[in-house]
Amino acid sequence: MKPIEIEDIDKLPGIRIRENDTFCFRCHPEVECFNQCCRNLNLFLYPYDVLRLKQSLGLSSDEFLDRHVDIVMRPANFFPDVLLRMAENTEKTCPFLIESGCSVYPDRPDTCRTFPVEQGMLYDADRKKDTPVHFFRPPDFCQGQYEKKEWTLPAWIRDQEAERHHQLTIRWAGLKRLFQNDPWGFEGPQGPKAKMAFMATYNIDRYRDFVFQSSFLKRYKVKSEILKKLKTDDVQLLKFGFEWVNVFIWGMRSKDIRPR
Ligand code: SF4
Ligand code: SF4
Repeated sequence: MKPIEIEDIDKLPGIRIRENDTFCFRCHPEVECFNQCCRNLNLFLYPYDVLRLKQSLGLSSDEFLDRHVDIVMRPANFFPDVLLRMAENTEKTCPFLIESGCSVYPDRPDTCRTFPVEQGMLYDADRKKDTPVHFFRPPDFCQGQYEKKEWTLPAWIRDQEAERHHQLTIRWAGLKRLFQNDPWGFEGPQGPKAKMAFMATYNIDRYRDFVFQSSFLKRYKVKSEILKKLKTDDVQLLKFGFEWVNVFIWGMRSKDIRPR
């Protein structure tokens, strides 16, 4: 999710949707474009997407990243982005696309959930706050935009069960925005600190081993009730990983993670 500058907001493609605006859309297997949107995509995966997909596929986060993603550096950011790797066929279909539709539908990524509504982040520097902004942006071939079913944004987000994804993506966007500044120094973005920050946010099973099987707990004081949750709860571990990156990379204070 790219951060949006306030002066650019009216230049972006698509129709901006505010909370009480309505739009018409319906996707179903009878549309002639069915599944056309699930191919040849630059589909960015956020940390919670990876968590849900690896659970859905019964893989470790390590295996998921190995099999299904490409890691890229984009200009003006010093943290890598994660792209879902498309299948090696002529149409470059999504690897999870099957004839009947999406094979990981209950765990599909954030971007797929509210498609063709896209979410971006507007940063208010005065209030130091990220605000989500939404655009209705169906591709020309998408027939769903000509259907009669009317939605407000909150109703659409609810219908697609996207609340949890959105919450965690907003949290992630706040952390990712910090990486518009280079924290790596001479190590660069391939160095050991960068690898650890990536592990804490994207490779959650490895990060759990790191918390419990390295000298981590000798270096950081963490309450026992929190540690108990981290042993089994991937979402708590992901939130903890975000917090730890704030402490470890950006030197922020945390009430839950105290350097010893
Ligand atoms: S994850 Fe599912 S919905 Fe998203 S592009 Fe792939 S097949 Fe389509
Ligand atoms: S292009 Fe639009 S209507 Fe067609 S399958 Fe994709 S979301 Fe549905």
